[in-house]
Amino acid sequence: MVVIQLPTPPGASPLAAPPLAAPPLAAPSLGATPPGPSLGDADRSGTGVLAIALGPAMVRFTGRLEGDMADPTGIDRVVQGRRLSVATRPWSWLTQVHGSTVAVIDTPGGGAGMAGDGAVSATPGVALAVLTADCAPVAFASPEGVVGVAHAGWRGLVAGVIEETVAAMRALGARSVSAALGPCIHAECYAFGPADLDAVAARYGSGVRSETSDGQPALDIPAAVRQALHQVGADLEADADVCTACSTEHWSWRARHDEARQATVIWRP
Ligand SMILES: [Zn+2]
Repeated sequence: MVVIQLPTPPGASPLAAPPLAAPPLAAPSLGATPPGPSLGDADRSGTGVLAIALGPAMVRFTGRLEGDMADPTGIDRVVQGRRLSVATRPWSWLTQVHGSTVAVIDTPGGGAGMAGDGAVSATPGVALAVLTADCAPVAFASPEGVVGVAHAGWRGLVAGVIEETVAAMRALGARSVSAALGPCIHAECYAFGPADLDAVAARYGSGVRSETSDGQPALDIPAAVRQALHQVGADLEADADVCTACSTEHWSWRARHDEARQATVIWRP
């Protein structure tokens, strides 16, 4: 596993991460697809925000330190303030329904609160966001300037939310698509029912089957994301490699019944 050091563009937010420290030990992968490069968690010290550049876009993955980023009403001024402290522009966020509907956003702040689990844009300044606890947040960018974001829990994965988001980007002119996977629950903490596990394996192969740390059948969400990206021809350029259930710096419904949500936001300056 290779740890990449992403460049910080001139004028980037002071939230941008310091240079990465030594890479963490790679976890064994049970999937057929090799894991993407890891960002580790060493660059989260200080602000808590994991900040990366993905192609021409900026990505922020928040954690517990930044507070609850969920606001179903869209008018909570405390949450609005938290969001703006992470990305100082109006956010286009989604009312997530664990499906595969993708919103196309062409104005900053447009579509806020729309029902869906993916969003794409070719417009500079549009900040696309998803809110997660244990589900996988995936940010996408292409050199052509198209960006995207997806909320991928197991139901959304089976529904094809990754593939639909990349297809929507290509419809806007994206050619090569790079992706970054944020903090999500990992297999060692994600005991999973056999029937549901079969449904995910039917779509993404046996590499999604894993075991919890105490030997129960488990779903490997990152492996499913990697396979979905592979099938649609997108490159996993960065992986936060953080388990939300293990990490005390993140919200987790499965581990702690947290109602709060961390955010993933991407925009092209
Ligand atoms: Zn864990």
